[in-house]
Amino acid sequence: MKYISTRGNFQGVEAAEAIRTGMVPAGGLFVPEEIPVFSLQEIREMAGKKYHEIALQVLERFLTDYSREELNDSIQGAYERRKFPPTEVVPVIGLTDNLYLMELWHGPTAAFKDMALQLMPRLLMRAIKKAELKKEIVILVATSGDTGSAALEGFKDLEGVKIIVFYPAEGVSEIQELQMTTVDGKNTYVVGVKGNFDDCQSAVKAIFADQDLKDLMAANAYQFSSANSINWGRLVPQIVYYFSSYASLLQKEGLAEGEKVNIVVPTGNFGNILAAFYAYKMGLPVNRFICASNDNKVLTDFLNSGVYDIRRDFRKTISPSMDILISSNLERFLFEITGRDSGKINKWYQDLKDEGRFEIDKRTLADIQAIFTGNYATEEETMKTIRETFDKFQYTLDPHTAVAVDVYNKYRESSNDDTITLIASTASPFKFAGTVLQALGQKAGGRTGEEELQELKKISGLDIDPGLRDLGEKEPVHKRVAGHDRITDEILDILQIK
Ligand SMILES: *Cc1c(COP(=O)(O)O)cnc(C)c1O
Repeated sequence: MKYISTRGNFQGVEAAEAIRTGMVPAGGLFVPEEIPVFSLQEIREMAGKKYHEIALQVLERFLTDYSREELNDSIQGAYERRKFPPTEVVPVIGLTDNLYLMELWHGPTAAFKDMALQLMPRLLMRAIKKAELKKEIVILVATSGDTGSAALEGFKDLEGVKIIVFYPAEGVSEIQELQMTTVDGKNTYVVGVKGNFDDCQSAVKAIFADQDLKDLMAANAYQFSSANSINWGRLVPQIVYYFSSYASLLQKEGLAEGEKVNIVVPTGNFGNILAAFYAYKMGLPVNRFICASNDNKVLTDFLNSGVYDIRRDFRKTISPSMDILISSNLERFLFEITGRDSGKINKWYQDLKDEGRFEIDKRTLADIQAIFTGNYATEEETMKTIRETFDKFQYTLDPHTAVAVDVYNKYRESSNDDTITLIASTASPFKFAGTVLQALGQKAGGRTGEEELQELKKISGLDIDPGLRDLGEKEPVHKRVAGHDRITDEILDILQIK
């Protein structure tokens, strides 16, 4: 299977090269040349299979230049019991007879990024081996929180690679900061940056574009790479759990063969919901996709009007992993929904670059609206949904998943559609314990991160996720702090390049 560019500006490459390269050098994203399809019978037979088996089935259809053994080793290593304790890997929890949550956060950092970032590094390392590059890879990550810790966990102690994470020193929660600064592994480096997330991201982007620096790296046998969410290697692992969750409904909840479900996803970069859409293109029976946003509702407006407009204020919310105005993976979706029309994609993304907005044609908008609904939840609605879901079902939602539940409730009320629905639950409530406690009526502030975890444990009756336990007792081992204009120096210092 070859991978082509959404903008028609690159010749087809094998999966390993698409994963190694990340994005198309001249702009554009890699997409598979064709989308493999499972028959209804193949989907029915997934019921009762282990997560690992379904993962192998999906991966081997897309990553045809990897051997079965390479894929199997990668999958077994990524989703081993020590890292994902539940037997199902992704448990599907019923709130009512037609509403289910797919818990995607039972990995090492208690958020859904682990689903991809445990597997992707293993695919990347094998891709590098295949290319017989004699250089050590340096992964650079700019993070607003969740991606950093998940990437550190995914890359730590892998051979032939170093990972350096930059986070805004004043812009992450205490729990998120501890998750990063206490991480072990001989090849992990973490730098707190004086500035906000945009400063971190711009600095890292500038480094990727700095040819002199790249030459200096090459002369020292290093090469930069990224673990960015537009990498196909991060997307393909996410397709798996839509099949495994559907299989789980077939197996345990009496879903009929071929019965369609709705899928609700709290969305930021459009990666998770795009994976659901690819599952649908592969044959998963889906009635409707519901795209849920927070106050940064650029996607809601787009799905309703056909105008994608980023010329608006960025809002900091209680669901910070969805605070995004440029949803990079939307480009892949538009490519697919227009019947793979690179001409349109080029025009729209040129408009976005030039004017900060683009508008799609009526026909494409109608095609999107035939299967997608978009809506958003305000901060207040998100808090209220956490409280009401707890009161009604004794189920504790994190703020991101609460955005999805609120948007689903609104959809249900306005449409009367009672199709069985799967909601992507993207983080453990403990990861955002402060906000959740406040939603449940506790006083804000005045507690350390550790005290918040203990308090939420008491109130929710849940166990603290293994990756968050004892965080308060661990000593930070990473203490680097740098100004945002000093990031290059920091990298050279870490790599001991003079
Ligand atoms: C990253 C993230 C999201 C958004 O996912 P996208 O794939 O970027 O749309 C939602 N919730 C949580 C907890 C996340 O970490």
